[in-house]
Amino acid sequence: MSTAASVPSSSTDRPVIGHSIAGALDTTGAGRGPVFNPATGQVIASVALADAAVIDRAMAAARQALVGWSATPPPARARVLFEFRSLLRAREETLAGVITREHGKVLADARGEVQRGIEVVEFACGAVQLLKGQHSDNVGGGIDNWSLRQPLGVCAGITPFNFPVMVPLWMFPVALACGNTFVLKPSERDPGASLLLAEWLTEAGCPPGVFNVVQGDRAAVEALIAHPDVAAVSFVGSTPVAEQIHRVASRHHKRVQALGGAKNHLVVMPDADIAQAADALVGAGFGSAGQRCMAVSVAVAVGDVGDALVAALTARIRALKVGDGASAGADMGPLITAAHCASVERHVAEGLEAGATLVVDGRGLTVPGRAQGFFLGPCLFDHVQADMRLYREEIFGPVLGVV
Ligand code: NAD
Repeated sequence: MSTAASVPSSSTDRPVIGHSIAGALDTTGAGRGPVFNPATGQVIASVALADAAVIDRAMAAARQALVGWSATPPPARARVLFEFRSLLRAREETLAGVITREHGKVLADARGEVQRGIEVVEFACGAVQLLKGQHSDNVGGGIDNWSLRQPLGVCAGITPFNFPVMVPLWMFPVALACGNTFVLKPSERDPGASLLLAEWLTEAGCPPGVFNVVQGDRAAVEALIAHPDVAAVSFVGSTPVAEQIHRVASRHHKRVQALGGAKNHLVVMPDADIAQAADALVGAGFGSAGQRCMAVSVAVAVGDVGDALVAALTARIRALKVGDGASAGADMGPLITAAHCASVERHVAEGLEAGATLVVDGRGLTVPGRAQGFFLGPCLFDHVQADMRLYREEIFGPVLGVV
């Protein structure tokens, strides 16, 4: 078994992040997109953007591999996943480093993401037990019933930028344990980790074509979800895209699950421990710079706890250290792109125009040595009203509003 030191440790080791089809790297397609390190603002690699021909090749590989993989006994499939889990565990630091470099989240958050992903692999290792069928004897005169669980075929996964390791790991280990083959289309904004997952799965004994990665954007997704050989689609991302994926893939008669965005509230009751509530809110609001589907962006202060809560939050938020996620001591990293940073800043400006009180303004922050990074400091609003955009829409940045 090779060690962490002998595998490529980052996208910077690959100037072009390509597709992985039947275990082979492929950098063809419709063009290239930039991959940034959000902390430095520098382009660190380019990503190949799949066209319909690339999707066809990946689908052909997955379709061919399905014959052998679906007939492989479930315990033998699980053995590959056990081995994969060991490789992930041994190399979690490598994976966390790639996440931080391309996404920007601090290393502690990246390590947490890897851990959550490994837990799903561990679940998939035990899926054999869930694949059992049932037999009912004599349900009618001379009639017995059987149920058995069968693979669906080739499954496609389309994943968001904010968890480039965990969300793919929600999908393909379980699909593979059940005897399906898989084509993953990760986010084009932080695609590097997907290739490590593909390599390590191969190293764990997964046959060529069982797990494939296609890089790309909207065009790749559209070709994938319309492909006649895709049996099922799993999507995680923003709500408008989730709705579109669900609509289009359903029209093509696929099984679809499409998970969208969220707007999460934390209710602080009159008898709450304010220090504890403020600690929880800072973690939930500013972890990963608010780029989590489960980020809390609204605190609902019930009774007269509002002023004490805002005071406790203000002290904690001012103490947060914003910096390069790879540097020691950083509590919060940058946002994913300059465009996203500008969009979150627009939300802050609109909140002010709508009449909310900006208690902590994180705009204009410069991180020493990282002047080109996509940084926005944590922002805290008070007196947020339910009709404000700030309250109604997912902002996906370090902005917390108190109602
Ligand atoms: P996104 O919707 O922009 O992109 C998700 C995926 O869809 C990417 O692979 C992207 O390449 C692709 N895509 C983007 N636009 C497309 C289009 N028009 N047609 C087809 N494919 C398209 O989402 P994002 O910005 O990468 O991720 C953040 C969003 O994901 C947030 O809204 C967050 O709440 C949500 N999210 C939800 C969950 C959950 O469990 N519900 C988990 C994580 C993230």
